Amino acid sequence: MHERDIIIIGGGPSGVSTALHLASNFPHLLPRVLILEKARYPRPKLCAGGLVIDAEVILQRLGLDVGEVPHVDAERIHFDFGAKGLNIRVPKRHALRVIRRDEFDHWLARQAEDSGVEIREGVTVRNIQALKDYVIVQTDQGDFRARVVVGADGSNGVTRRCIFPRAPVNTARVLEVLTPSQPPPNTTMKILDAQSMFKSSDLGEVPRQGRWGSAYIDFFPVPSNIAGYVWDFPTQIHGEAMRCWGVYDTNMLASEKRPQLKEPLMKEMARLGFDLGNYELKGHPIRLFSPENQMSVPGVLLVGDAAGADPFLGEGISFALGYGALAACEIGRAFRRNEFSFRGYRRRVLSSALGQALIARWLLAQFMYAFKWKWFQILVWRILKPVVILIAWIFVLNWGKRS
Ligand SMILES: Cc1cc2nc3c(=O)[nH]c(=O)nc-3n(C[C@H](O)[C@H](O)[C@H](O)COP(=O)(O)OP(=O)(O)OC[C@H]3O[C@@H](n4cnc5c(N)ncnc54)[C@H](O)[C@@H]3O)c2cc1C
Repeated sequence: MHERDIIIIGGGPSGVSTALHLASNFPHLLPRVLILEKARYPRPKLCAGGLVIDAEVILQRLGLDVGEVPHVDAERIHFDFGAKGLNIRVPKRHALRVIRRDEFDHWLARQAEDSGVEIREGVTVRNIQALKDYVIVQTDQGDFRARVVVGADGSNGVTRRCIFPRAPVNTARVLEVLTPSQPPPNTTMKILDAQSMFKSSDLGEVPRQGRWGSAYIDFFPVPSNIAGYVWDFPTQIHGEAMRCWGVYDTNMLASEKRPQLKEPLMKEMARLGFDLGNYELKGHPIRLFSPENQMSVPGVLLVGDAAGADPFLGEGISFALGYGALAACEIGRAFRRNEFSFRGYRRRVLSSALGQALIARWLLAQFMYAFKWKWFQILVWRILKPVVILIAWIFVLNWGKRS
């Protein structure tokens, strides 16, 4: 049996951020840290790659410049209902930086290794047993004994399933597709089904021009019982301009009447001259935050999607990085006191700036998706613009600076 005091399961943003914050704030613990990652970098990760300002703030505090990673900057984020709504700009900077996750996660892992963090790639954790004084981590390459385990293994992670086998799993459904930045010439627009659940008046009529440079989030599927939105972000793959599209559904309005998840995406793409059938559609769940989510047992902490991502938009990279900072503090405190119960971790997460932002987004999701009627969505996104921007600015964004 191998021994290591601190084992982090998963080398995505939450796991690597935990290690980077340990390296930065508790360097004496660094030789005791080991990340186990089942894949090998650069590994694929289904994600639109939109980094909000909070993610960049956390990375800057660690002395890292995400500008080193290939990216596309969107100057505005449009929050629309039926192609009309409000747009958010951040003074003197981009509103959203869009990276590819294979490149971003690889870069982040290399930054951690440069700081002295050991990452073992190609090791799959199969089971975790939290015993009285230590935790056994069983992998496909032998067993480890640890004082502390951090479950950073994402929405389907083995850590959460082992420590909370009966807890409810609250996940969003998400589909994503990549296309070239422009529609192919002479595209035959998909004929929309006459039985469509989306009336044409719910969708904008004219394809938007000049979409490159802006990120779009459109809540038009909400009245048809899809508690979420369709997105369209500019991105790049190996320097080539592309678009990343997708559809997000919290599952809150689950109903037999709701259309197939890919339907609103197909319609939005068709409106802009793309035929979804020509591209590869991929899906992955996102485990959502709720104030009731359990986050630790003695010896084991959850971070990132394993603990819960933003339920309103499914945004999780900035929160994954932020959870890493909180978990590192928790681990530092545990070693200082030689007390590893992690009692109070959830309470401290909830009362942190990250926790407050997640609670605000959880409330927003309950509110915005429960009032699914078209007139309500129009009121919020098209008429109450200044109020919505103010609320978003105070309660929803900028938590990274406050933490
Ligand atoms: C389609 C889609 C689009 C999204 N778009 C955005 C977006 O634009 N912006 C945004 O902020 N968020 C977005 N998200 C959410 C974001 O991807 C997640 O919140 C984020 O990846 C969470 O990071 P994490 O480190 O917790 O988990 P992950 O990134 O999932 O990393 C988990 C790591 O653990 C490893 N692992 C898993 N199981 C094991 C095991 N048994 N043993 C060893 N290693 C293991 C995995 O290989 C992986 O490297 C999107 C999600 C989806 C599905």
